[in-house]
Amino acid sequence: MLIDLHCYSLPLSQCSALRPEELVDLARDRGLDGICLTEHDALWPAADLAELRQRTGFLVLGAVELTTDLGHVLAFGLDSGSAKFASAGEAFVAAQAAGGLLYLAHPARDGLLRVTRETVEYFESVEAVNGSDSRLQNVAASGLAHGFRLPGVAGSDAHSAAEVGRAATRFQDRITGEASLLAALRAGRYEPVSLQ
Ligand SMILES: [Zn+2]
Ligand SMILES: [Zn+2]
Repeated sequence: MLIDLHCYSLPLSQCSALRPEELVDLARDRGLDGICLTEHDALWPAADLAELRQRTGFLVLGAVELTTDLGHVLAFGLDSGSAKFASAGEAFVAAQAAGGLLYLAHPARDGLLRVTRETVEYFESVEAVNGSDSRLQNVAASGLAHGFRLPGVAGSDAHSAAEVGRAATRFQDRITGEASLLAALRAGRYEPVSLQ
């Protein structure tokens, strides 16, 4: 299954030009099997996500991109409501408590230089392919992913129509919701894919 693990929608992310339904239509048109909404520092309420899933008949998952002192962090499996943290360290404590996983987003763009020998332990891996980054940045990020326990993930980082579906994560297992997404991530049964 091809799932875009990094995209934004209105109104939770005001920097996005896409309403959730538009995002779903574009993702479906471009051959994706699902998307994961990663609004900036905000989690979708579970009920709203379930309603969107039902209304569109498309797999829409929820995660978050956290703004932290170590750069942007993609967080999967955090409890709903917990989406604002003073530091990546605090996010790590919350992820540990909730059984969630943290990935350093677009590491070759800005995050890498802030991560130290100690704080790198917060992350399962990095975003190895980001649809908004350059080829060279993705080559660097893919190289970095080899230094981690799990493979790198991939997503479009889409804020506009043209960006949707430029990158996605290919899962070996059937993903039906956040629980199976988390299990597949934890098992490392996926690979990052560039689709441009
Ligand atoms: Zn944004
Ligand atoms: Zn970001």
